[in-house]
Amino acid sequence: MPERLRTGGHSDDVGGRAPGTVIGMRIHQLNCGTMAGVSPTRVLLVESPDGLILVDTGIGLQDIAEPARRLGPLRHLLRPALDPGETARRRIDALGLDPADVRHIVLTHLDLDHIGGLADFPDATVHTVAGALTWSIRIPRWIERRRYRRAQWEHGPLLVEYEYDDERWEGFRAIPLDAVLEGMKLIELPGHTVGHAGVLVPGGDGPDVLHAGDAFYHRGQIDPAVRIPRWVPPMEKIMALESPAIPLTHARLAALAERRRGDLDVVCAHDASGPGGLRS
Ligand SMILES: [Zn+2]
Repeated sequence: MPERLRTGGHSDDVGGRAPGTVIGMRIHQLNCGTMAGVSPTRVLLVESPDGLILVDTGIGLQDIAEPARRLGPLRHLLRPALDPGETARRRIDALGLDPADVRHIVLTHLDLDHIGGLADFPDATVHTVAGALTWSIRIPRWIERRRYRRAQWEHGPLLVEYEYDDERWEGFRAIPLDAVLEGMKLIELPGHTVGHAGVLVPGGDGPDVLHAGDAFYHRGQIDPAVRIPRWVPPMEKIMALESPAIPLTHARLAALAERRRGDLDVVCAHDASGPGGLRS
């Protein structure tokens, strides 16, 4: 384990601000890694009163410099565009913001297409569910070693891990991240990987956004009015480590999106459609 990699932190340790009204919030939806020429990798960039927060990081500059070592053989299946202009780092530059202001990164899970940009923000504190860390960094099984890439955390980010307790949000098990941003939460969304979670971002004046990570792959899986492309279900199944949990997760997200239509945008990583738009 790298020297700087520290785990076991608690939300009290991360230097968050005191609870109060969230003002000056802005949520950018960024494509930080086009896959196979068709699917984006959605990253949320949150401008908060206390600095910038990322939800996932997509493909990073170092992945582009060393794709074989950092991404491994799975890159031949995912076929990321490897375009520096798509990285979160460059997108933040393009928005006229300062990448050094990224203080926190919250992860849906640790797959290579979601954490490649961690090294581009080496001073940010990284927040994730404890179970996701256990099966990616601590004791990955063979099946997990091919998708979780040690090279992507060898710079030793400060990792803060969280366990679920009794907290619920809209019926889902939830972990409050108020020390990062008041109202932000990790939401349990099982199926894709062990410990996979969505990230709820309070919208301030606009709708809240739930980044559901890879809990679904296409809008049609949570909206019966939208047709699902034929490649989606088999691809989702190939990539899932807990596939029996997927149908219930889809059903619960569909019900949630319907129930909260207008004041909650439910989006996933690899589908450009859906509310909120996406910068490509
Ligand atoms: Zn993914």
